[in-house]
Amino acid sequence: MSLQQSDVENALGTVEDPAMNLVGLIKHRIVNKVEVDGKTALIGVTWPTPCYPEPLKKELLGRIKKAVNGAGAENVTIMPETETAWLPPPSDKALLPGVKNVIAVAAGKGGVGKSTVATNLALSLKAQGASVGILDTDIFGPSIPQMLGDPDLPPGTTEDKKIIPAEHHGLKVISVGFFTEKKEAVVWRGPMVHRLLQQFLGDVEWGELDYLVCDMPPGTGDVQLSLSQLIPISGAVMVTTPQEVSLIDVVKGISMFEKVDIPVLGIVENMSFHECRNCGHRDEIFSHGGGSRLAKEIGVPLLGELPIDTRIRYGGDSGVPIVASAPDSVHARHFGDIASKASLEVAKRILVKPKRNKRLAIIK
Ligand code: ADP
Repeated sequence: MSLQQSDVENALGTVEDPAMNLVGLIKHRIVNKVEVDGKTALIGVTWPTPCYPEPLKKELLGRIKKAVNGAGAENVTIMPETETAWLPPPSDKALLPGVKNVIAVAAGKGGVGKSTVATNLALSLKAQGASVGILDTDIFGPSIPQMLGDPDLPPGTTEDKKIIPAEHHGLKVISVGFFTEKKEAVVWRGPMVHRLLQQFLGDVEWGELDYLVCDMPPGTGDVQLSLSQLIPISGAVMVTTPQEVSLIDVVKGISMFEKVDIPVLGIVENMSFHECRNCGHRDEIFSHGGGSRLAKEIGVPLLGELPIDTRIRYGGDSGVPIVASAPDSVHARHFGDIASKASLEVAKRILVKPKRNKRLAIIK
């Protein structure tokens, strides 16, 4: 009996993708093509992020082959390609043409390592093959240019007066720090904040980016709210330290994102523990596990637990973050894992339930 296209499609409908745990590969657009000829099947696969981990790619290809063989195919050819999943923004949020996804990195309070996570997250996404920019909107302490080195490198301008981002370690970088004196922060907090941000954001020529990592100011003030309304944020990574005081503030941040319909991609617990380099003793300086408890409570993934470590601090202070200076180190691998998980969370939300459809359904 010849192989039926519908049998192959039905078989793929039962396969689970191991990275996002989505069942039904055609429905979720992970399989984009099924062609059947005699006993031969040709399957087109789309990786929805360049950061889909290699071992899981192998695992999924194996599952596909097994399922299609099971449906009666003797020869199975799989053609994978990468296309970062994204949704065109609504017209009132079209300030960043060419940018597929904005990942906000936020924290309830300052000093918990939000900028450190944003910088290393951006570098890790880049290291895994994505085109990435970083937007530093932390008006209270724009530290990204410092963390990436050469903070005085000015962005350029195009002929039509658009701002060209500076470039550090392969990342496109724009910081409010390029345009404001420290004392001007007061202006940014005033009633003009929305208009100022709108103008500033609309003037940058980012080009084509898979991910723009946005380092948000800490807390839940005017700037955060305006940013959430002005740019189409695909999701937020919340950074916290393990102590109660930090967790309480991060809950407020999460609630703000929920109110403006921005999904929380997951929690990063920073300064989670310290491991002595000499004896290996593990010390939980600020307690431990608050991040994972919170993640469980609100039903989002714990993206990672990062140690407190001199090498992470030194990387930020020296202008060469650890992901750039020691890409094979255990810390860089931690950040790589966080980046991969965050990008998969972004893709998952798009593939499962395109948000704009949900909104349209509500309007109806
Ligand atoms: P935030 O953006 O939340 O204000 P930063 O990322 O600027 O915080 O970090 C504050 C300080 O803590 C910086 O000096 C940074 O290098 C340091 N730091 C952040 N995370 C770690 C870590 N895991 N280990 C050691 N130092 C860290």
